[in-house]
Amino acid sequence: MENRVIVAGAGIWGCTLARILAEAGYRVEVLEKRPVIGGNVRCETDPETGIEVHVYGSHIFHTHIPEVWEFVNRFVRFNGYQHKVLARHGGKTYFLPLGLALINQFFGVELTPGEVAGFMAEESHRTAIFDAFFRNYTSKQWGKAPEEIDPSIIRRVPVRATYDVNYFNDYHQGIPESGYNSLFERLLAHENIEIKTNCAFELPPGGKLDCPVFYSGPIDALFGFKFGPLPWRTLRFETEKLDVADAQGTSVVNYVDSDVPYTRQHEYKHYHPELKAVMEFPKTIVCREYSTAWQPGDEPYYPVNNEESAALLAKYEALAGEIPNLTVGGRLGQYRYFDMDKSIEAALAAAKNFLEKNQ
Ligand code: UDP
Repeated sequence: MENRVIVAGAGIWGCTLARILAEAGYRVEVLEKRPVIGGNVRCETDPETGIEVHVYGSHIFHTHIPEVWEFVNRFVRFNGYQHKVLARHGGKTYFLPLGLALINQFFGVELTPGEVAGFMAEESHRTAIFDAFFRNYTSKQWGKAPEEIDPSIIRRVPVRATYDVNYFNDYHQGIPESGYNSLFERLLAHENIEIKTNCAFELPPGGKLDCPVFYSGPIDALFGFKFGPLPWRTLRFETEKLDVADAQGTSVVNYVDSDVPYTRQHEYKHYHPELKAVMEFPKTIVCREYSTAWQPGDEPYYPVNNEESAALLAKYEALAGEIPNLTVGGRLGQYRYFDMDKSIEAALAAAKNFLEKNQ
């Protein structure tokens, strides 16, 4: 068997693959363009307050996939944090997602679970909710009216007829007690893994690879943007340290009205309620998130999925498909929004597929 493989990109997809292949006896070279590993899940701990700052925006681990939960728990312990998102609208604060708490507060009614479906079947009710909580937020997030974006995006927000205000439906949730960076460090802590940071992967001339390559950088960049760049939304973060122990009482507040220019404000200390000293420290860190159009050179965050970008992606995928030994994956490689658990699931499947073919 060819014993050497390259994993290009040390995000969650790449690090999972690297680990599985290293455990299967492969010599894995991990190449990471940035000076640090962890992709956009990378965090930095503020030395003064001890707060774990999510450098690329809030990441909450949540899954219902047993294999993924089992896999990550081999490396870190999760703190049991359950994600809740509040929405600020018209000077009032509501609990998302769309459930009994929000509906009853917004309409000033006292519906029971059995009454929700009938109430929401009324078009005026649906429109009122949509206009209040989705229309402006979506325009800020995507730079487009909600009718113009892929409906699957808004479907990510659950709809329920209960008072369950947990943002995600997934049974398993949490933040690594030892911090997100430790997850990546431990995934790559294996004698068969060599990490090279500040090292971008480039296709050799003629595209001939001398060992299997698992690439999770941008697929268009791999081919020198030959057909033009795939469009993204980028984010800008405005981070501020405040002299109060608690600024907003929760980790994320969405600002769903158009008069506030940012989409949401994060307060990171709330992700670690188990860290009493950090919670009580008389300072906090908040971060306002702005979504803007992406220009080449900006950090890509959200793929802009539409017919045009799908056609462009198909052209790059066809090129990638012609290169023996190349597997492309991850958010940037597949040009797809991935929750962290889905990225791990995809990496486990890619590793399994590779190992079965190369036994
Ligand atoms: N959304 C909205 N209002 C909200 C929350 C979400 O309109 O308060 C819409 C918006 O279009 C967003 C999508 O639902 O892009 C998915 O929301 P999610 O919270 O999953 O966004 P993410 O955290 O992944 O950026």
